[in-house]
This record gives sequence, structure tokens and C-alpha cells, in this order.
Amino acid sequence: MGFTHIPDDRLQRIFALGYDYSVQPKERIHLCNLCGATEHTQLAHIDRYGYEATAVACSVCGLTFLNPVMSGEAYADFYTKIYRPLVSAYHGRLIDVDTIQDEQMAYAEVLAEFLRPWLDSRKSNTLLDVGGSTGVVARELVKTFSINAVVLDPAADELKSAVGAGLEVIPGFIEQYDPMGREYDLVTLCQTIDHLSDALGSLRKIHNLLKQEGLFFVDIVDFRAAYLRQGSIEGAIKIDHPYYFTEDTAEVMLSRAGFKVLQKNYFSDNLHVGYICSKKGIDSTALPDTTFVREYFREIRYIQNARR
Ligand SMILES: [Zn+2]
Repeated sequence: MGFTHIPDDRLQRIFALGYDYSVQPKERIHLCNLCGATEHTQLAHIDRYGYEATAVACSVCGLTFLNPVMSGEAYADFYTKIYRPLVSAYHGRLIDVDTIQDEQMAYAEVLAEFLRPWLDSRKSNTLLDVGGSTGVVARELVKTFSINAVVLDPAADELKSAVGAGLEVIPGFIEQYDPMGREYDLVTLCQTIDHLSDALGSLRKIHNLLKQEGLFFVDIVDFRAAYLRQGSIEGAIKIDHPYYFTEDTAEVMLSRAGFKVLQKNYFSDNLHVGYICSKKGIDSTALPDTTFVREYFREIRYIQNARR
């Protein structure tokens, strides 16, 4: 084990932040969030920042996640104080609420075009953007489709910008959100599912607050794409993400939450995979093909050990 996957200058910038991951309160996960199995395989013991984070994959379905994982309070603290400086230190340039606006704008425009064929043909009035940050994506969808938007996000600072832009905001996490009978025509979960504490529970909640004819958009960071491009499993693990989805685990989880994939899109960054979904019956026993799970573990061993 070591830091060989991290360049020295990057390691020094991260070390200078003085964040000690090892002392953060953590919880051990006993049941796979996707299939409920208890057996898992440890894949990695260190993350892309050099923190001692353990990533495991469920031996039955392949769902990959940090275990142990920081508690909700530790994550709240992490997002308030460390997340943006840490990502800045990793990339060696400032990344904050202002600088991410341009990136989010470009993302929002791509998303609007992706949704257009589905939204142009139906009457949609209300959008809930889960993890909607400063509201850049919500604003673009409001402008393009003339809908009313609500932004749900735990980061109070980021919500201020959304309020300033005239959006309705709800502070908090989807896991705790009480819609009080409110339903939406469109729900978006953009670049957020990997950050959740209860992914399947959140998808089921979204299913409940989506109208019967409603549309749901979600995207994942494809973990396979991430480790293939890094040439390293450790280089694709980061403490900011409790979950590491592949196309297979994401699609099975969508089935288990009661969603049918209408369209799938590889984003032009070759990393994110987006899904437009409608509601269908819940398939609570869906599992990835066992061949996939076996191939996934083989590929991980190959990436860990193939000579380059
Ligand atoms: Zn599982």
C-alpha cells in the first residue's frame, strides 16, 4: 500500500489542508444497499487523496461503496469545511461556488437538450432538483421548459444563490425530505447519487414523489470509466463518494426503485452516464447477471496488477 498513484505536489497540497480522515466518526455497513447481501470483498484501502478509505464491493451484486463510511454529521462537516478546498488541492486550481458555475452551466445546457424530446411532448409544470446546489441546472430547465422549480440541497451557502435567482429552495438531504403530499412532474438527481448516504432509499423516495406520468433523470460517475482512465482503482476512489456505480449496478438499482430506463446517454466527458426514466412497478429482486459480477472482479484485479 502506498501513495504511488498520487503525484508528490498533489500530495503536499492535500497534506497542507490538515484534514485527518482517520479520526472522523464512521459507521460500518452490514447490508448491501442494493441487494441486502452481507458478503463483500475489499477492493481498495486508500483513496485518490491518500486517505485511508476502504472501498468494498458486494460479492453478490457488485455494488461498490466505502465501508466504513463517515457518519452523516462527519459528512456535513466535510462538505462545509473541506470538500471544495480538497477538490481544489487535488486539481491544483481554485474550485469554489463561483468557479463551478461555468461548469454547471455547460452541464445544464447538455441536460436540457437531452431532456427536450421527452419534455416537449408532455405537459410538465413542476421540477424538483435534488442536490441542486446553486440552482444553475434548475434555472436552465425553467428557462427552457417554462416550469416551476424547487431546489433541494443541504448546502445553505449554495442555496443562497438559488434564492437570489428566484428559485424556491428547501434546505436538507433527500433522505430526510418530507414532501408533505407534494408531487412533481420532473425530478432530477444530477451528479449527486454517488454522494448519498442511502441511494436505494432515496430513489424509492423520489419514485413516491414523482407523478405517475412523471420523468426522472439521474446520472452516475461510471466507476469502470473512472478506473479505466486512471489505470488505478485507488485513483478512482474518493472519500466524497460513498458509492461507486457501474452501468449494471445503477440499472439494477433503478429497477429495484421502480424505474424504467427510457434513454441512456454517455456524456461527452466519457465518464458520466445519464438515464431518463419513467415509473414502472418495483422489481425488488432484480440483480445483475452473475457473469457481470464475475467479470467486474476480474477486471479490477487486472487493473490492479497489469504491467503498463
Ligand atoms: Zn449487493
